Amino acid sequence: MKFLLRGGWCLFACSCICRMGYTQARPLPGNDVQQIYQRLLPQIEKIPIFDHHAHPGFFDDPDVDAMAAPPGSAALRERDTNPELVAAAKALFGYPYNDLSPDHAKWLVEKKADLKKSRGNAYFSDILDKLNIERGVANRAMMADYLDPKRFPWVFFADAFMWPFDNQRERSRNADQQVYIPLQEKMLHRWMQQENISKLPADFSGYLEFITHTLEDNQKKGGIAMKFEVAYFRPLTFSDPTREQAEDIYQRLVNGGVPSQQEYRTFQDYLFRYLVREGGRLHLPVHIHSAVGIGDYFNLSQSNIMRLENILRDPRYAGTTFVMIHGGYPLEREAIWLAAVKNVYMDSSLMEILMYPAAFKATLKQWLETFPDKITFGTDSFPYNETLGAEESYWLGVQSARTALAAALAEMISEGEVSQAQALQMARAYLHDTGVSLYPGKLN
Ligand SMILES: [Zn+2]
Repeated sequence: MKFLLRGGWCLFACSCICRMGYTQARPLPGNDVQQIYQRLLPQIEKIPIFDHHAHPGFFDDPDVDAMAAPPGSAALRERDTNPELVAAAKALFGYPYNDLSPDHAKWLVEKKADLKKSRGNAYFSDILDKLNIERGVANRAMMADYLDPKRFPWVFFADAFMWPFDNQRERSRNADQQVYIPLQEKMLHRWMQQENISKLPADFSGYLEFITHTLEDNQKKGGIAMKFEVAYFRPLTFSDPTREQAEDIYQRLVNGGVPSQQEYRTFQDYLFRYLVREGGRLHLPVHIHSAVGIGDYFNLSQSNIMRLENILRDPRYAGTTFVMIHGGYPLEREAIWLAAVKNVYMDSSLMEILMYPAAFKATLKQWLETFPDKITFGTDSFPYNETLGAEESYWLGVQSARTALAAALAEMISEGEVSQAQALQMARAYLHDTGVSLYPGKLN
């Protein structure tokens, strides 16, 4: 406050504050809020979007993610009964019906099949064009030849390196792990194939070299960041073991034997930190799933974003850029304070799909009022099923975020917090500029 007011005079030549009339911000928006919203929305729609996190691809493409959805509950808005998805199908494909009954849904499936045939590799780029998305990150197991790499920069998965041992104990923990762990084993084998090794290196140095080579090769293949979904598999509390501890465990277990839970955790704690350091050295930002997850066994208290605080605030990792995918939801109000750390960013993907726009507006407003230059937009678009694909979730994410953003900024303007020019600058930063700035020279 010290720079704001003294006897009605602005101490610094700050045009925005002067234009706002030397008044303290108000606790309620004025009658002009609706008007301001109507004025902002079309300007926000014109901002080309950088979608920082999504899983583009067709429903039958197994590489859309490195994991699969276990059976479990879906939140209300994510269910395929959500009528907004009809609006998405109408907007994107001219869907002529008002429901998604199996008979009607057939029309949509056929329409998409026709377009895939006629548009080929341009199919998904067309979806981006329709939604004014300049680029959409493709967080996928492997890239697909039907996605244009210029429009869909690749973010690969790094979790599998943490699962090299006999995983039977981990698999048997619950139904979710029975789905997840075999897919991590499969991913590790794919990295081994890529690096032309048929079995795990005999010593720990060799294993770390294999990991580094994989990261470097993925980077050469166009990978712009590495992603962890480790919260699905184990707690997010990482201890700080020595290399010798990790090496000892590797040497004892690389040729077989089931590690104890403690042994596995210690080994993984070292590996995670190794990968984070490599992310800094290679200028490969580290994306971390930081929200509640799908499946009924996701342990929110052990895997919530605040568990990562010791890593994110560790000065040894100041050279690594961290992107907290899904912004720590449902702890996003606390999580934004982690973005106080220079190299830590919050990504809002999934939140704008899980929450309805009114609730997302409140979240976004708090984020914009805290660290507006440290937040990025993402859709978490994903092919849910044959009818409701990544296409519709792109639409839902983009529409929800634009309207919530316009509403949050309209309130902030009306309440005397920011000028319209500042608000639009915040909108550009969130939807595009901040995300793009994390990958200098990588987005061509
Ligand atoms: Zn995702």
